[in-house]
Amino acid sequence: MTTVFLHPPGIYDFRKRPVFIGAMSEAVPSTPVFEMYPMGFVSMAHYLERHGHRARIVNIALKMLNSEKFDAEKFIKRLNAEAFCIDLHWMAHLHGAIEIAKICKKFHPNTPVIFGGFTSTYYHDEILTKFSFIDYVLKGDSCEYPLLKLIENLNKTDKEDIPNLSWRKNNIVKSNPITNVPETVNFVIDPKFMLKLIIRDMDIDANLPYRSWLDEPTMPILTSKGCLYNCVNCGGSSECYKRIYNRKKPAFMEPDKVIEQLRLNEEYIKNPVFFLNDIRMGGKRYYEEVFKKIKKEKIDLPVVFELFSPLTEEFAVTLKSTFAHYNLEMSPEDASDDVRFCAGKNYTNEDVENSIEIALNNDCDKFDLFFMLGLGKQSKKSIYRTLDYIDSVIGKFKKFKNSGEREHKVYPFISPYAPTLDPGSIAFENPARYGYVVLHRTLEEHYNAFDRYSWKDFFNYRTENLSPDDIIDLTYDTAVKLSHIKRKHEMVDDRYVKNTEKQVEISRDVMKKVAQISKTGIGINDNEREINLLRDEINESMKSLIHKNRELNWPRNRKSLNVYVMNILGNILRRL
Ligand code: SF4
Repeated sequence: MTTVFLHPPGIYDFRKRPVFIGAMSEAVPSTPVFEMYPMGFVSMAHYLERHGHRARIVNIALKMLNSEKFDAEKFIKRLNAEAFCIDLHWMAHLHGAIEIAKICKKFHPNTPVIFGGFTSTYYHDEILTKFSFIDYVLKGDSCEYPLLKLIENLNKTDKEDIPNLSWRKNNIVKSNPITNVPETVNFVIDPKFMLKLIIRDMDIDANLPYRSWLDEPTMPILTSKGCLYNCVNCGGSSECYKRIYNRKKPAFMEPDKVIEQLRLNEEYIKNPVFFLNDIRMGGKRYYEEVFKKIKKEKIDLPVVFELFSPLTEEFAVTLKSTFAHYNLEMSPEDASDDVRFCAGKNYTNEDVENSIEIALNNDCDKFDLFFMLGLGKQSKKSIYRTLDYIDSVIGKFKKFKNSGEREHKVYPFISPYAPTLDPGSIAFENPARYGYVVLHRTLEEHYNAFDRYSWKDFFNYRTENLSPDDIIDLTYDTAVKLSHIKRKHEMVDDRYVKNTEKQVEISRDVMKKVAQISKTGIGINDNEREINLLRDEINESMKSLIHKNRELNWPRNRKSLNVYVMNILGNILRRL
């Protein structure tokens, strides 16, 4: 029997319902369907297999995205599973996760349905109280061992000794403490294991982490779990880790494991490695040891690092001496220091500009700057000031090549934080203090909101200055204005600007139509032709506003995993 990991789409069934997801996924590699499954799926599946169990990953979201004909119900009905594991990590997956769980239980009433992830942890009690088709919640940030224990003890009545588990006993919700909190992160994601699953199931898209993975595979390295910082709207802040996931301090990946992961990436993925979280959180000794080993092993991959605090000369020099190519990412959120401080980030614009300066002086290939809109204390004025600031930063750091051509290494982005304030985050618990008003508190309220038609309905908050309508309007307005700024600096051409304007026009038009449906309560069967037409328009509107595929991606090596998989599949087919 197999433990089946199912990754749901954000909204089920986005192909049938006229639902307008808007710009929710602008800052992540997924499409608006949120088809990217969590890395934890691979580590848990691998862990189960290493302990003699069989596991399968099915990216339901991607299968739905890739084929109009894919029937999720029929597919799930045919599965023969020992247990279904469904991720509900971030709130964006709630609707899909609940619907997929219902389908699992409908066709397999005796097969346990297990939820996991941050959102599941925060709402574990409500999940088990209100949603009878979900049997277990595994809490915390590390569930490999608890899942193994659960799978091995599914038939036992008493499950008190399974760490991190919430469950029902005689209709009463029991919550075992979160005691499985490993002090190191030592799980290496092995692309060979993922390839093994693809080949064994003969189902490529079921196993892919996201749509473009074969063409543009990335294998991020999670060098740590936990955080040292307290951004108030983040469900993964230091305070949240302590209060909700029982992690008192961050855990780090041992340097040798980092090397092992990089070696695997070098062999199979070949593309840039994204170091998730700021490696400096482990301290100077930690990252110096990692970098020393990278040099010794002559690992030559382009890398991307996140900066949770300003860059120092000393770190930049170390990066320069270790990597031939590196990119950096920093998220100042807003150009107003006040808004940024209120968001929990304690650095100034001067610090941001110093960081860029240091990076560029130390051969950084690209410096991405992320700004957000929809934050507490922000106002329309502060958001437009942020655009002016972006304009000045691009101008300040553009360089001229010998040929006279402009060269840009600083890429600013502005995208909505919306539509949900992370449940459990510092601001969610104490909204007034940070300029927020929370509109939905319970999981059920969130589910009902996601069951509606438009991302405007999905908002679980407003700010003291901005309503959901304002945030949406600003999203479209700033997208156009930013494209004009980038054109002014010759970062993009006229076509780019026209595309953005067209995209915004389509989105605004779709918003109006969907609002009308929402108001009149028209059902999806009321006027199928109209609904189908609207669905086509919605699909058109789903193209990225910030052209992230072009601007967010990093330089690629030409030989991708696609070639590798095709070679393997070719070899297998030849042998059949
Ligand atoms: S957003 Fe802030 S709190 Fe959250 S992980 Fe990043 S640095 Fe940590």
